[in-house]
Amino acid sequence: MGIFNKKKADNQERSLIHRLRTYRLFRTLLIGFIVIALFNMLFSSLFYTPKMLELSEERSRIEYKNKVLLTKIRSSQNQIDQIRQRDNNVYRPLFSSDTFYIEGIHSPYAEQKYAWMKDLSNRDMLHTTWLQMDQLARSLYLSSKSLDELQKLSREKENFSTSIPAIWPIDRSRLRGGIGAFGYRIHPILKYRKMHQGVDLGGKIGDPVYTTGDGIIETVVLSRARTSYGTQIVVNHGFGYKTRYAHLDKVFVEQGDTVSRGELIAEMGNTGISTAPHLHYEVIYKGSVVNPINYFDKDMSTEAYKSLMGQIQEENYEGE
Ligand SMILES: [Zn+2]
Repeated sequence: MGIFNKKKADNQERSLIHRLRTYRLFRTLLIGFIVIALFNMLFSSLFYTPKMLELSEERSRIEYKNKVLLTKIRSSQNQIDQIRQRDNNVYRPLFSSDTFYIEGIHSPYAEQKYAWMKDLSNRDMLHTTWLQMDQLARSLYLSSKSLDELQKLSREKENFSTSIPAIWPIDRSRLRGGIGAFGYRIHPILKYRKMHQGVDLGGKIGDPVYTTGDGIIETVVLSRARTSYGTQIVVNHGFGYKTRYAHLDKVFVEQGDTVSRGELIAEMGNTGISTAPHLHYEVIYKGSVVNPINYFDKDMSTEAYKSLMGQIQEENYEGE
């Protein structure tokens, strides 16, 4: 073997050693990598990785918060139900009003509304909460509408109580003689049975005449003629009520004026068909005359009513 051949063999050996080293290094790295991967797989199936642990805790927190939210929603629903209960059984009967209801208010929304959550992992949890929330919203809406209506009713009731005729149209202390009765009687001048549409309250010319409830002056007739009611006023109180004040002397209001209960509107007179100074007073409800005696004092006791009835006489002062 020559020197040349020996050199060649050395080179081949070095190259082989080098390749072997590289191969070993690769093998070590590969084994290392596989071992790490195996460990990773093993650990991640047995224990959570920090990231997974975080996610899991997050999920538990959300579930807990959702539970708290549901409890709150249910408690609010409970309160709303109690308000409804009082509304229907206490407040509404006060105003003789029926239960307030909106047709279909309690039917749940179409499932379409919740379609957006169908792919979410916590869909069931969300769906339950959402349904409860929507139900609460509907109940709230119903209750608020009902309360609006109650408020309106109470305002009307307030107006109603001051509008209906409920006092004497003259000072009772100034009443002279009896009270000319309401109803059929023999006409004092025409001498045949005729309906007396109101009551006659005797007094003196110039005695104050008051409106018996809040209202608007509907008619003022100024007449000195010896016919019919003579000078008269009709007040419209709303709620179906009107009052008429006839045979007046002076009048202090005009058509369209707003008047309050107890307001001085005229003075007693002897105009129209009348035999002596008096006030002819009518209460008209929905177009028909009713007995004004029942509207003199809405809080009248039985005793006071009896004594009032004792003052009523068949004789009247006039023909209308
Ligand atoms: Zn009369």
